[in-house]
Amino acid sequence: MIVGDSPTYWIGLDDTDERESGCTTHDFNDLLNHLSASGFGIVDPRLVRLWPFAPRRTRGNAALSASITGADSVALESCLDEWFATRFVDFQPGNENHSAQPVLLMTKGSLPESIYWNTVRNFVELDLRISELEPHPHRVWSTSAGLGGLIGASAAIAWQGGSDFTWECTAWRDNTGHRKVPIALVEKMAKLFPTTFMNRDPNANHSLISPRTPCPVLYGIRGESEQGVLQAHEYLQENGAEYSIDYRVHRSNQATDDHLVESEIGTVQCIRIMQGGHVEIDVGRTLISFSQGSELNKLAQNIIAGDRIEWYGLTNLDGSIHLERLRLLRGERNRRRPNCNCGHRFKSQGKNQPLRCPKCSSTHADLWCSEIIDSEWTEPPPAHRRHLSKPLSRVGKSEV
Ligand SMILES: [Zn+2]
Repeated sequence: MIVGDSPTYWIGLDDTDERESGCTTHDFNDLLNHLSASGFGIVDPRLVRLWPFAPRRTRGNAALSASITGADSVALESCLDEWFATRFVDFQPGNENHSAQPVLLMTKGSLPESIYWNTVRNFVELDLRISELEPHPHRVWSTSAGLGGLIGASAAIAWQGGSDFTWECTAWRDNTGHRKVPIALVEKMAKLFPTTFMNRDPNANHSLISPRTPCPVLYGIRGESEQGVLQAHEYLQENGAEYSIDYRVHRSNQATDDHLVESEIGTVQCIRIMQGGHVEIDVGRTLISFSQGSELNKLAQNIIAGDRIEWYGLTNLDGSIHLERLRLLRGERNRRRPNCNCGHRFKSQGKNQPLRCPKCSSTHADLWCSEIIDSEWTEPPPAHRRHLSKPLSRVGKSEV
């Protein structure tokens, strides 16, 4: 039990989803509804994405948190006891590598932000996290499956989003199967509510707001303002999208690049274009561009040895860097001898000799001509960007 009362407690939840079939956002919303119905105040509900390469995680790797006001700790703990016991009464731990390890964490006050930064950028050992939490008053609810969810639950509480954050209105459904959220409606919504983003993939002409998995999420609308995502949700509901049984607006670290440290610059030693179009760029370390990367991958395929490039990328467990943004700073192309006035190209006659025209025998100082090229930043198309990746359209927004 947490001793003493404080006006603010935090709760965090992670890893309640059995891979594709469940959804932690849905569980957390259910918990928040349970707390509201019991008279507690809910402040700052958060949807926090974490390190995309965390070995046990699904692609989304999301955890949730909120602060709870008007709480005395005994009443809050008993409410959390009740919810956790009911939710996981039938829980059967499965295969160690694939089964969820749900954890509900309650803390008195917030947690140091360093806990978040470590979890969004690196692999975190569970034992380390357990010892990091020791000095902070907290309580953990878990199952016999293990404590894996503690890593995300604590990171979601520790996140502050002081320098950059976005919003997501998440809406849930009762149905399973195909979601009725027409692309034409999503396009209209995107135009009417320009503070929303990542709504559709302009190349593939499909919506990005609905997941493809059989989970209870109907859609999630991302945007720069709380009001914008809420109004966009209301617009969809009033104009023929599938009925949503419930929704909640979360503050989020999505589209902030929090998982990346800073850009790096290097000189290309060689590139290898793999079967299927993936590209490995050797800059002393290996950068990987995937064929789904569209503009970014096109640029990667056209890079040659000697080019100076700048990139943002995420280091995988094997040490390779998966590119998230790439630009060419300086490349030399079409290296050739100059043309003579007669129209023929000068040719070299050997070391320390002037160039000579093979047609009219004019000579020219020994030199090369070439074109110097560079490029704008490139990024993968929206459907192949990570939840955490900042779209180029957001660069410069809400940064301090
Ligand atoms: Zn000539």
